[in-house]
Amino acid sequence: EPTGTPHPLIPLPTDLYPGRANSTGLDLASETVLSDLAQSISTGLQSISTGSQPLLNPANHGDIVGHVTPMGEAEAREAASAVAAASPRWASLPVEKRAAILERAADLMQSRLPHLIGPIMREAGKTAANAIAEVREAIDFLRYYAQQARETLTGATPLGVVTCISPWNFPLAIFTGQVAAALATGNAVLAKPAEETPLIAQTAVAILHEAGVPHDVLRLVIGDGRIGAALVAACETSAVLFTGSTEVARAIQQSLAMRTDAQGRPIPLVAETGGQNVMIVDSSALPEQVVADVLASAFDSAGQRCSALRVLCLQEDIAERTLAMLRGAMAELVVGNPDRLSTDIGPVISAEAQAGIEQHVSAMAARGHAVWRLPLSEETAQGTYVAPTLIEIDSLADLSREVFGPVLHVLRYRARDLDALLKSVNDTGYGLTFGLHTRLDETVRRVCSVVEAGNHYVNRNMVGAVVGVQPFGGRGLSGTGPKAGGPLYLTRLAHGARWNGPQ
Ligand code: GLU
Repeated sequence: EPTGTPHPLIPLPTDLYPGRANSTGLDLASETVLSDLAQSISTGLQSISTGSQPLLNPANHGDIVGHVTPMGEAEAREAASAVAAASPRWASLPVEKRAAILERAADLMQSRLPHLIGPIMREAGKTAANAIAEVREAIDFLRYYAQQARETLTGATPLGVVTCISPWNFPLAIFTGQVAAALATGNAVLAKPAEETPLIAQTAVAILHEAGVPHDVLRLVIGDGRIGAALVAACETSAVLFTGSTEVARAIQQSLAMRTDAQGRPIPLVAETGGQNVMIVDSSALPEQVVADVLASAFDSAGQRCSALRVLCLQEDIAERTLAMLRGAMAELVVGNPDRLSTDIGPVISAEAQAGIEQHVSAMAARGHAVWRLPLSEETAQGTYVAPTLIEIDSLADLSREVFGPVLHVLRYRARDLDALLKSVNDTGYGLTFGLHTRLDETVRRVCSVVEAGNHYVNRNMVGAVVGVQPFGGRGLSGTGPKAGGPLYLTRLAHGARWNGPQ
């Protein structure tokens, strides 16, 4: 049983459901904003769709979002040598000039907000609220790294060419964050976006070029994992920024371990990878707040964030009651096409992702785990949707991998077994995000001092780290650090770079 003095009650958030939460600054009820959005959703990609391979909207496969032509290895190699040739000029530019160019790109993104939102929604299947938040995060990365460059880089030397390999789940924010960090530090960039989301990356690159980044200092390389591997192996690459799976990060590390830069130094890899993220809720927690935070953490973005909650651990005394409330709140979630602003949860990214998640749910059911799912509407047959799902498990060892979708595992624990539970959290080997709901100060101290995770969230949701305020990144199998959006990130990208402030 918990002991100690409870916190005073914490006010409930007013935005109980993730799709309707609007922390974006845009008034989603305003008619002008709505008509801008509608315009943006329907026409956003016309001008940049140029290639031969169609890209389908995951929300509706009848909607062809655009076309791309993936590059072959020869073209990727050509891009690598062009970027390497252009890198000395960019490196010799004063930090202030580079920072000003990134800030100009931020201004351009801000002024084009409605034109960026639609492509993100259609190419990645994101809700409007998620797409708006993503553009804002991309702008934050540009401004933050510009400012950090001024504070960190006196007397520093860029590494040369940075290869940036980014994921589809934040096709603008993470793409822009990596590229902005590399450019801010005076490096030239080979940017390889996920093969699922090249068009929004193309838009971001066009904005950066327009802002003043020379064409050959930043080249977009469109293709699949093989092209990414070719860039990593290219002799021009002097550092790699990667966000994606632990497995691919390992392969990149192996490839980089085979060579050094021209001065014989190892080639750095900054990897942000997956998690098996846990939230622990004890019997002193405020149930309504728990439910709101669990919904946002597990199901926002259809669970396709590496920060998302995967395993909810409920102290057994409150488990039944909390689960009843959670199922009730889940029943209110609107799953469907994000082209309607009432949608809370959109599709998952692809048929392959959908099949992998469904396979996990079936395998867990076959093994005797209780499974509860939200029924889906007929409309969802048009795209790759997965029903928000709860699966009861008996221990963290029941899970062998991260399931990247709207599937929440629930584990009941007894208060006297808390230490063993904390140990099992660390034993997963991952350490990205961790959530705790309790009103006992002593429990906060005890739990947070034991759990090894990059980002601890107490009495709140555990997604949506804010650039410059909540540096984001994991430990162990979850990443190498330094954290994205934090003061140390740039120090990995230039020799002699130093952050002198608090860490
Ligand atoms: N930074 C994001 C968040 O805090 C997650 C990034 C990711 O999924 O890679 O939710």
